[in-house]
Amino acid sequence: ARHFLARARAHDDLGAWLAMDEDVTLAQARAADARIAAGDATPLAGVPIAHKDIFVTRDFPSTAGSRMLEGYRSPFDATVVARLADAGCVSLGKLNCDEFAMGSANENSAWRPARNPWDTSRIPGGSSGGSAVAVAARLAPAVTGTDTGGSIRQPAAFCGITGIKPTYGRASRYGMIAFASSLDQAGPMARTAEDCALLLSALCGPDPDRDSTSLDMPPEDFSRSLGDSLDGLRIGVPREFFGEGLAPGVRAALDAALAEYVKLGARLVEISLPRTELAIPVYYIIAPAEASSNLSRFDGVKFGHRAKHYGDLQDMYRKTRAEGFGDEVKRRIMVGTYVLSHGYYDAYYLQAQKIRRMIADDFQQAFQSCDVIAGPVAPTVAWKLGEKSADPVANYLADIFTLPGSLAGLPGMSIPCGFGEHGMPVGLQLIGNYFGEAKLLNAAHRFQ
Ligand code: GLN
Repeated sequence: ARHFLARARAHDDLGAWLAMDEDVTLAQARAADARIAAGDATPLAGVPIAHKDIFVTRDFPSTAGSRMLEGYRSPFDATVVARLADAGCVSLGKLNCDEFAMGSANENSAWRPARNPWDTSRIPGGSSGGSAVAVAARLAPAVTGTDTGGSIRQPAAFCGITGIKPTYGRASRYGMIAFASSLDQAGPMARTAEDCALLLSALCGPDPDRDSTSLDMPPEDFSRSLGDSLDGLRIGVPREFFGEGLAPGVRAALDAALAEYVKLGARLVEISLPRTELAIPVYYIIAPAEASSNLSRFDGVKFGHRAKHYGDLQDMYRKTRAEGFGDEVKRRIMVGTYVLSHGYYDAYYLQAQKIRRMIADDFQQAFQSCDVIAGPVAPTVAWKLGEKSADPVANYLADIFTLPGSLAGLPGMSIPCGFGEHGMPVGLQLIGNYFGEAKLLNAAHRFQ
């Protein structure tokens, strides 16, 4: 723990951390040592990790990357945080992220940008940008992230690490500051699929009293298939994921990865996900709709920031929210409120829900002929800081390959598969069918 704290401090210019407290970390490390000495040596005992600042924690402030929660301390730990602590993990603090997990570049953090360790003039991806930076720069062996529309997979890809978002409902959302509740999922990010499997096994599990969408399935050992042969594995390659718009360097890295899978015994099957393009408008209706509702709790009364000077109650709400939320969050609240409003609900929100169902059905159709799906995580490598910060739509378009799986609630992961333009890392996305995490992790493990 001391080693990683020192590294994190020495590389603070990467902007990975939002909160650190050496006393807390070392106290946790001593407790882990005591457990190990007492013979209670679980696989994760004493392993230092750090959490995306979207998880609430008792021992560190929790801001979700927002001014709105400046100085906020939760009276409890998120279930994911508590489960990893029970497994023996030691917390190195809280990691930078886009405000309320809204973003693809970590540039929407109210506090500071995070920088890609492969080229510090480039973004690390988002919204779990700090998480990806911490692992890529070896400032932490493993971390947590959350993925609503790609926020584990995309920064993992941009920073050359491994990350997995499980099937929706595997991980409890209790204590994960809510963005879009029907999409939000927690997952681990680490160097390897093997490390991810260990962490995922610890952090998943039912939480029926606290998250009504958590699945009533017993905890699983996701490491159980690691090492299984890939002979005969059918890898679906969606035509729509390899069209124009995919950077040539990214495509070359993916082609090489697919060829490697064939050498490992897998068979490539061409499949179609015909509504891939629709995932962007559908997601950018549903996610803001849910966000506009979830974020109504930040009213200056219950948590965090409250405007200093105000007239009546309405004025207090207005000023608090004007000061507390950043531009992207305001944009989403406005879009979400609009698509849910009377007269527009049927035209936008309801249509989006229908197409969401069709996108999920398209995947089921595809899984008739394949076991896992492989493709890009993002169309390009990490872009330059500031390059797209004034253009929200340019950021949204970069989510095209992660959004379909999110809308369907499927497990997905990103594994490093070489380098593309500007020598930047490229991620291979593997998408599994529901509850196919063990199979995905093995496919990733064999590749690594
Ligand atoms: N980039 C997407 C967005 O801005 C996804 C974010 C996420 O998965 N949290 O909404």
